[in-house]
Amino acid sequence: MIDYKTITVTPFAQNCRIFVNYDTSECVVVDPGDRAEDIYNAIVEAKLTLKAILITHIHLDHVGAVAKLSKLSGAKIMGSSIEDEPIKTSLPMQAVNFGLNECEKFETEYLKDGDIIEPMSDFSLKVLHTPGHTPGGVCYYCKKLKLVLTGDTLFNGSVGRTDFPMGDYDSLIKGIKTKLFALDDETEVLSGHGPNSTILDEKTTNPYVV
Ligand SMILES: [Zn+2]
Repeated sequence: MIDYKTITVTPFAQNCRIFVNYDTSECVVVDPGDRAEDIYNAIVEAKLTLKAILITHIHLDHVGAVAKLSKLSGAKIMGSSIEDEPIKTSLPMQAVNFGLNECEKFETEYLKDGDIIEPMSDFSLKVLHTPGHTPGGVCYYCKKLKLVLTGDTLFNGSVGRTDFPMGDYDSLIKGIKTKLFALDDETEVLSGHGPNSTILDEKTTNPYVV
């Protein structure tokens, strides 16, 4: 059985998710923006093995704890898409701009649109490249659990900001309409900030995309 918990981190209330396979005692962390030690200690206490750290996009409030958590656990780092590489090199500047702690450098295995990954047993995810908030931003769709991790691309009732350097509003909306709204209506939307939603709710009530 696979289930997840949400830890809200950073002053931006970023939703870090920990997916746990209770049959194999494996787990996967998505977007650890901060609190690397707390996350690691919770994983150790629960006697879980962290198999991978997934990134939806390279903004500091989503990746601030990636390097430290990977060092502590030995877990591999995956995502986002390679178009985020220029943003990755600007992480120290992001730290200053957002008033957050400086982020250690890390190497990640970039993913492509359409990739199917299985970061732990029985947890298969399809990678959906949804640029706009950042050029390499991705969403992760889990058909089995009927959910999609949308990072800062799609929120409950809103969409990601595109006024950052390399943001692009038209690409963002296109990605949401062609890739996210193509998913089953009942798919649960787990976004990077704020409460969950469903694809149907966003299709019918989100003022940015209806
Ligand atoms: Zn962001």
